[in-house]
Amino acid sequence: MPPVMEHFLFPSTDVYVMCIHTHFPDYAANIEIVCPVCGQKEGIQLNGWSNGFRACIGKSSLFLMKSRRLLHYHCPIALANNKTSTSFSSIHPKVVMQYPPIVQEMLPFRVLNKLVIHRQLIQEIREGKMSGSISSIQRTHASLMQTQYMQNFKHYLLAVKRVKTHPSLRHFMGNYRPKPFPSFDQLPVKPISTTTMTKLYKDEVRRLLPLIHGYTGLLTGEVLKWDHTFWVARLMTDANGVGSKTCVFSVMNEYGEVLASYFCESKSLNELRKEVQMLKVRLLQGGQVKLIYTDNPGGDLTFIHSVFGQNTIVKRDNPKTSIMYPTCHLVHLVWL
Ligand SMILES: [Zn+2]
Repeated sequence: MPPVMEHFLFPSTDVYVMCIHTHFPDYAANIEIVCPVCGQKEGIQLNGWSNGFRACIGKSSLFLMKSRRLLHYHCPIALANNKTSTSFSSIHPKVVMQYPPIVQEMLPFRVLNKLVIHRQLIQEIREGKMSGSISSIQRTHASLMQTQYMQNFKHYLLAVKRVKTHPSLRHFMGNYRPKPFPSFDQLPVKPISTTTMTKLYKDEVRRLLPLIHGYTGLLTGEVLKWDHTFWVARLMTDANGVGSKTCVFSVMNEYGEVLASYFCESKSLNELRKEVQMLKVRLLQGGQVKLIYTDNPGGDLTFIHSVFGQNTIVKRDNPKTSIMYPTCHLVHLVWL
């Protein structure tokens, strides 16, 4: 068999077949899909499968998707346009939103407007943002995509060359005309932009926020470290768009986990007396707060003893060995 360009363009590509009625019948039985165009649910029918494949973009390569199509028979919007029905995909963003949360969680991709993005890339963005910028993640992603493309192209050229030069193959494939390999710019999906990455990152953090808050609320500690950070407070505004907070006060435990973060109007701890007292009640369920590191031990001592008692030791933190540094990233993660 002569080399077929498509085989080399999509080597070993995973193909996802998406139909909630086939793969999640227990959940699908309880939902009535609403037409994404008119919003009605009467007259929705299954209507075969998508023509061809949608490309789903991953960290360095593409996946292919075949999805269930649905039909809204006698859709009023279609009738107004002299058609009998509206046809739509089961991975239309407005349709995916209707799936139960547990089904949405199990899907290996996310749909953003016309893009289908694999969760491995979204995870890469979220974790990469902990230590780097969106633009550096985007450059790495684009470079990985290009490298993968070049490798596919090289394998195709080698296979074509083999057919053309091998004496016995040349005899059988005398009229073989290889199809040109598409250029990188002609690929069905390009590397995603920094704007799309930023949106994916924010959406992903919002999705995880209840989990982060739940986890944070369960943490405890005996040795605390606290500090104010200023940069992130600029991102917080009131409803009228005016910034009212100057800093964020964060508390970590001996494992470097963030126990609490508060937006503040000043650096005065008295502003947070009620919150820190509530934090103490939470922490004492796990034991006594033995030691607190702060950058202002002299100034904080009275406040700490008044809240945690005289037995809590107060020490100056050492920025060089501080466990506080990851806090900025964690705070950004939580509040972006
Ligand atoms: Zn409709």
